[in-house]
Amino acid sequence: MANTSILVVGGGFSGLTAALEAAEVGHEVFIVEKNPFLGGRVAQLNKYFPKLCPPSCGLEIQFQRVKNNPMVKVLTMAEVTEISGTPGNYEVKVALKPRCVKPGAADLSADAAALSKDVPSEFELGMGSRKALYLDMPFAFPHRYVLDKENLTEAETKTLARNGAIDLSETEKTLTLNVGSIVYATGWKPYDVTKLTNLGAGMVPNVVSNMQFERLTSPGGPTSGKIVRPTDGATPKRIAFVQCAGSRDENHLNFCSYICCMASLKQAAYIREQLPDASVTIYYIDLRTPGRYDNFKKRIMADEKVRAVKGKVAKIEAAGPGVKVTVEDAVTGLKGEDLFDLVVLATGMQPSLAGQKLPRGLEVDEDGFLVGGEDKGIFAAGCAKLPLDVMKSAQSATGAALKAIQTVKGR
Ligand code: SF4
Repeated sequence: MANTSILVVGGGFSGLTAALEAAEVGHEVFIVEKNPFLGGRVAQLNKYFPKLCPPSCGLEIQFQRVKNNPMVKVLTMAEVTEISGTPGNYEVKVALKPRCVKPGAADLSADAAALSKDVPSEFELGMGSRKALYLDMPFAFPHRYVLDKENLTEAETKTLARNGAIDLSETEKTLTLNVGSIVYATGWKPYDVTKLTNLGAGMVPNVVSNMQFERLTSPGGPTSGKIVRPTDGATPKRIAFVQCAGSRDENHLNFCSYICCMASLKQAAYIREQLPDASVTIYYIDLRTPGRYDNFKKRIMADEKVRAVKGKVAKIEAAGPGVKVTVEDAVTGLKGEDLFDLVVLATGMQPSLAGQKLPRGLEVDEDGFLVGGEDKGIFAAGCAKLPLDVMKSAQSATGAALKAIQTVKGR
């Protein structure tokens, strides 16, 4: 007799979708998420397609559905280390990192604010900081602080030890789950821009990735959504986007990342709404706007302050407080230079599993996308499988949930 429980690895938009689809038809579902909070990449966006709504509008509903459904069990700061067994009867080992904050929704904002150290925030992607006791965002789920003990002073450790909501003795644990099938919805990570040495990322000031720009424009981000030049807080007047930054390049990501043309057009819209005097230049090889998104491109490109230049960016360098971009125009063949206040690299998506040590039974292709596994009762969803936008990731997750259900029902 098959075990009818389903494990979903990853608590981003795809993982949440797959988990809810299965739980809402009666399956016990475990979500295993390696970060302290659910929401994945979508939580870091300012707005997302197709409706260009803020992440709270989609995620808060999903979080409520998870919270209200006793069939869904959420494990955060958790990673799958081992999978054994067969479809219908898997045993999965999960390593849990200590959160050091007890369950319950204690408001620890005053305790967090009193801490001395500002730590670079993983959530803000280098654009902002956090305290050692933190929530990633106001609607974070689970709404339970996480404590990073390493960044406390001795005196702060002693003070927090007296706080009834804190458990400094918590240590790493291993848990065993028994499930019938598994959905891998491990999502993606922004390609490491520091590998793009000719594009100046990580070296030339005022060159940011598209995900960092999402944080810069988000009302919950480090500038409360104000678009500024990171080094001096000045309002940028000339902003460039460099498409295919790392993607479609055999030395980096040997595929089209699917979302970054639409992301740049969306970010051009953020700029034009907020900064009426600013101009935008998009350097591209192809401007890919699948299906109905073509209309969005037409609307953005109709703005006389948005210019698209078909050309390959060869070099990006610092020029005073600004940025110099050298580009070979693909139409004229001429090499030219232009100066900008801020440059956004349309960085590609790399599957999160790329370069990771995988549990037995999992297989990825040369780019890190999950392959096979279906005969084993393990199904990939969303960007663990291929580059997708949010809407298509949700569709992919629904399909994966259905296959996971069929695996445990058909035995
Ligand atoms: Fe390049 Fe656009 Fe494809 Fe991204 S979506 S890799 S920017 S063509």
